[in-house]
Amino acid sequence: MILILEADLAEQSPVFQQLLTRLKALPDIQFRIHQEQGAEQLLSEIYLIGHTKQLRVEDMEALPGVKQAIRVSREYRMLGRHSGDQRAQGFDYNGVHFGQDNLNVFAGLCAVDTREHVEQMMKALQDNGQVCTRMGAYKPRTSPYAFQGHGKACLPYVFELAGKYGIRVIAMEILHESHMDEIREALEKTGHPTGVMLQIGTRNTQNFELLKAVGRQTEFPVLLKRGFGITLEESLNAAEYLASEGNTKVVFGLRGMKSNLGDPHRNFVDFAQVPTVKRLTRMPVCIDPSHSVGSRDAGPDGIPEVFQVTAEGVVAGANMILVDFHPDPATALVDGPQALLLKELPWFLEDVRLARETYEERVLLAAAQGVGE
Ligand code: PEP
Ligand code: MN
Repeated sequence: MILILEADLAEQSPVFQQLLTRLKALPDIQFRIHQEQGAEQLLSEIYLIGHTKQLRVEDMEALPGVKQAIRVSREYRMLGRHSGDQRAQGFDYNGVHFGQDNLNVFAGLCAVDTREHVEQMMKALQDNGQVCTRMGAYKPRTSPYAFQGHGKACLPYVFELAGKYGIRVIAMEILHESHMDEIREALEKTGHPTGVMLQIGTRNTQNFELLKAVGRQTEFPVLLKRGFGITLEESLNAAEYLASEGNTKVVFGLRGMKSNLGDPHRNFVDFAQVPTVKRLTRMPVCIDPSHSVGSRDAGPDGIPEVFQVTAEGVVAGANMILVDFHPDPATALVDGPQALLLKELPWFLEDVRLARETYEERVLLAAAQGVGE
């Protein structure tokens, strides 16, 4: 059961303390406090764990400081959507809103290779009104002999250039908790010119100790990719690990499933589950068309397949797009064949705008039918 408390209730306040005394007296119930300082209010939630069936919602709502009690109706206690659940969804980070009702594009380099390429990429983003990007510094590679990313060595110039070109959020995969410290240190040294969304890749979706470590910090939001060979439920539970440790600023990423049934795509595109994740949880949903399709191939109509699957995801309500671009894909050290060209960026963004407009019209059409009333 989740108790939503009145806004701006400090833990030291007498009301909060009275509530804790009452909760401690409940038999077979443990609890965990979660507080979030929003732009205007301090929001507090208390998660009750254990023999909660014995508790009555009305009794819990009569406790001091409690605004609403929600019986958890399914899994994913913290990130899930429960009946009667009116908690706000989404979060703000470094001036960018992430929610189930909007869309952010993260176009950028799969892997940072040279400073020049980073600068060309960021300049193109600024020229096209973009404030988010992807930049891989730590790369999980199939072969131990393949380029592993420049790691912490590239962070200072990546962050400085981001500041120069007005980039507010960089999605960056980490493979180990020490990478968080390296990122924090580089941001500190460069004077925090940008923000970072920590990405947990598909190979680490069920690396529970990494999830716990990333969940224990709340400075950086997290993009958790779906595991390539596990069920959706297993991946959503992985996201819940982050939240259960304290970090609820989580975006869930679909990136295709490893299956030869999807050939010749790199992965079998799973963007049909965008609305499913939005129905089961309150997380914004990201799609990664580049790692799904894996090539720059275009259909006979001239539309690249990366554009096509992006449109599929956006028309279904996706909230974030993680997409590979490169100023010179032939020299890219990682995933060159799937990177779109910088000159294609305005085209891509316009294509996305059309798909988003269609989604918004579809929402209005559904509302006109009385759906959801
Ligand atoms: C990536 O985004 O660079 C990446 C490696 O993705 P995934 O974890 O989905 O393979
Ligand atoms: Mn890649």
